[in-house]
Amino acid sequence: MKLTYLGTGAAERVPAIFCKCRVCNNARITQGKEVRTQSQFILDDGQLMIDFPGDAYLHMIKYNLHYNDLEHLLISHWHSDHFYPEDLAFRLPGYAAGLDKSLHVYGNQTVKSFYDKAIKLEGGSEEKALHYHTIQPYQKFEVNGYTIYPFPARHGWFQQDSFNFAISDGKDTLLTTHDTGYPYEETFTYLEKENIRLSIVSLDCTSQTKAKNQSHMNWEHNKELIQELRARGLCSPDTTFVANHFSHNGGLTYEEMKALSEQEGVITSYDGLEIDTVHR
Ligand SMILES: [Zn+2]
Ligand SMILES: [Zn+2]
Ligand SMILES: [Zn+2]
Repeated sequence: MKLTYLGTGAAERVPAIFCKCRVCNNARITQGKEVRTQSQFILDDGQLMIDFPGDAYLHMIKYNLHYNDLEHLLISHWHSDHFYPEDLAFRLPGYAAGLDKSLHVYGNQTVKSFYDKAIKLEGGSEEKALHYHTIQPYQKFEVNGYTIYPFPARHGWFQQDSFNFAISDGKDTLLTTHDTGYPYEETFTYLEKENIRLSIVSLDCTSQTKAKNQSHMNWEHNKELIQELRARGLCSPDTTFVANHFSHNGGLTYEEMKALSEQEGVITSYDGLEIDTVHR
């Protein structure tokens, strides 16, 4: 399994769009890995795309992606740094030529309400170019050779409107935790019941060194979660842990976060990072 991080920032990005804090000022000057765009991921060679934020267009240019070649898009939740359906509507007739594939979008009922609004605003309906599949918590499903295990995140309206996923290709399994506070007990029991063994764990570390909050994790939470996953036998000694989804409000630059996470053997993400379980 190969996981490519196209974007690794929280909603405002780093530097944040209107901010002059220390972390944002540093990112403006230093550039490179200090700059974080909104969250989006690709598995393997594009067999599955995870999330489609406002920065998806920027990622298309930066990484030379051809979204028309991608057929499967999994959406975690309705926040605009994960789902910007107005851009998906540009697959409707009159906006895109040469569309030769359907794009299958998988998300929960709340995500669907945002999707429907964007499509309706453009005067469209369910078209050949787009198909929405409503997914349910704790009901695994198959997409393009992957088994996807969706479960509610501690996030958004706290009403099962935000999901996290375990995604297995039959050999390796990825756990995504953006965005969520410390996972619910039900998450652990679900993963245990499904006999999940994680190869890659991507950790929401939005708050970094700042106080714990309900809808995001900080570095202390990340360390607790790693311990808990280990104690419950959900990981192996080979599991790769990545801290990800950073906010400038978390208080640390990329270099500072990297120095901290390295002490625990955790990789600090940056835009463009690739985790390859075959070639590590
Ligand atoms: Zn987010
Ligand atoms: Zn800032
Ligand atoms: Zn969010």
